Amino acid sequence: MSDAAELKVLNPATEEVVATVPAATEQDVAAAVARAVRAQTGWAALAPADRARLLRRFADTVDAHTEELARLEVREAGHTLGNARWEAGNARDLLHYAAGGAERLLGKQIPVPGGWDVTFQEPLGVVGVIAPWNFPMPIAAWGSFPALAAGNAVVLKPAETTPLTALRLAELALEAGLPEHLFQVLPGHGHIAGRALVDHPDVAKIVFTGSTRTGREVMERCARLVKPVTLELGGKSPNVVFADADLKTALDPFSFLDNAGQDCCARTRILVQETALEEARAFLADALAAVVVGDPADERTGMGPLISAAQRDRVRSYVPDGAPALRGSAPDGPGFWFPPTVLTGERHDGPAAREEIFGPVAVLLPFTDEQDAIRLANDTPYGLSGSVWTRDLGRALRVAQAVRAGNLSVNSHSSVRYWTPFGGYRQSGLGRELGPDALTAFTETKNVFISTEGPAQ
Ligand code: NAD
Repeated sequence: MSDAAELKVLNPATEEVVATVPAATEQDVAAAVARAVRAQTGWAALAPADRARLLRRFADTVDAHTEELARLEVREAGHTLGNARWEAGNARDLLHYAAGGAERLLGKQIPVPGGWDVTFQEPLGVVGVIAPWNFPMPIAAWGSFPALAAGNAVVLKPAETTPLTALRLAELALEAGLPEHLFQVLPGHGHIAGRALVDHPDVAKIVFTGSTRTGREVMERCARLVKPVTLELGGKSPNVVFADADLKTALDPFSFLDNAGQDCCARTRILVQETALEEARAFLADALAAVVVGDPADERTGMGPLISAAQRDRVRSYVPDGAPALRGSAPDGPGFWFPPTVLTGERHDGPAAREEIFGPVAVLLPFTDEQDAIRLANDTPYGLSGSVWTRDLGRALRVAQAVRAGNLSVNSHSSVRYWTPFGGYRQSGLGRELGPDALTAFTETKNVFISTEGPAQ
C-alpha cells in the first residue's frame, strides 16, 4: 500500500502524467471536518428555497463547464468523450433535482390522542463521501449533492487515480456562491485519508462506493461508532436473453463494454436460451470485432483503456491464453488496453462467472427454460442490476420479480436515472442513492409531541 505524499494522475490512454496532487494526511482530514462543521451550521439555517437557489446556480456553473469537465474525465479516467459528457450532464441534472428536493423535504403530522405530533427531517451534519475511480464525477455527485441539499456539509475523498474532476466540481461550487468549506474535496490514500474520514466522530454518515472488500471494512469501522453507512459495491449482473427476444438489441456488446467494462452494472453474465446460443455466438463474434477501441478523446471511439496497469493485469488473469473466447482487438503500445472478450467455455460456478472482473470481459452461458434462467441469474453473491429480454410480457414480469437485484430492466440495458432509486441487494450494498428518497437518507427524523391538555397540575 502506497503512502506517498503526492498522487500522480496518469492518462490511462497514454501513461503520461496529467497532474500531481498532494495526498491528504489524517491531520488534513481532521482540519477539513472541523471547517465543515462550522460551514454546516450556517447552511442548515438557510431557508430551503435559498439553499435551492444556490444549488441551481451551481448546476448552471457546471453546465457552463460541461466540455471542460468532460475532457478532464477523458484525460484522468480514459472515458470516451460521449460518456464523459453524459457524466457532466448527470452531475448538473442531479443538482437541479436535489435543489427541488430541498424545497420539498417535508415532515409529517401524525394524529395522536391528547395533543399534536409532528416529525421533522433534520440534516445529519457532516457527511463523508468516498468514491471509486470508475465513474469519478457521477459518483462524487450522487453521494454529495443530495446531502448538501438536505442541509449537510460534505467532505469527499475521491479515488487515488481520479481526483481531478471532483476537485474541479468543488471549485465550481465556490464560484457559484456556495459557502466556503461546505463541499470540500480531499484527494488521498484510502487507508489513510479514507479511514480517517470513516473514523472521525464528527462525520455523521459515510457514503462509500467501491469494492465489496473495502466496503466491508468501512462498515465494520462505522459500526464501532454506530455511524450510518450507505454502501454501493460490486456487481456481476445477468443479461437474461430468451430465444424470442430481439437478439441484436439484447446482445448489444456495450451492455458490458461501456466504460471498458469498469461499470458496477455491466451485464457480464450473458445467459442465453440454449436454442438461440449459436445465433448469439455468431452475433457477438461480429459485434466484438466491430468495436472501435482506442483514443477516448476521438468521437468515433467506442471503448477506451482500463484505468491502470494493475487493473489490466487483474483482468488478464481471468482470460488465460488459449481460453475459448470471442475477441475484439485493442491497440498495442502505451496505454492500459484490453480487447473486448466473451469467454465461451466457462462453468457457471467458475471464477470468471462469479467474480467481478471489472474489465471488458463477459461470460456466455446457456440456460434451458424460465426456471433455469432464474436459478442462474441468482447464482451470485451480488445483486446490483440485470436485464431480461423476451417478447412474452408475463414471463418478463415473472423473471424481473424473481431476480434478486436492486435495478432490473426489461428489454433494456439501462440502470441509472437520477430520479429513480439505485443500489444493490446482498453483497452489492446497503441503502439506496438517487430517486425520491435521496435527501431523506441524509436526515434524522425527529418526532415532537405537543400536549394540548395544558401543563400537569
Ligand atoms: P476500492 O474499494 O479499492 O476503493 C474505493 C474508494 O475507497 C477509493 O477512494 C479508495 O481510496 C477508498 N478506500 C480504500 N481503502 C479504504 C479504507 N480502508 N477505508 C476507507 N476508504 C478506503 O474500489 P475501486 O477499485 O476504486 O472501485 C471499483 C469498485 O467499485 C468495483 O468493485 C465496483 O463494482 C464498485 N462500484 C460500485 C458502484 C455501485 O454503485 N454499486 C459504482 C461504481 C463502482
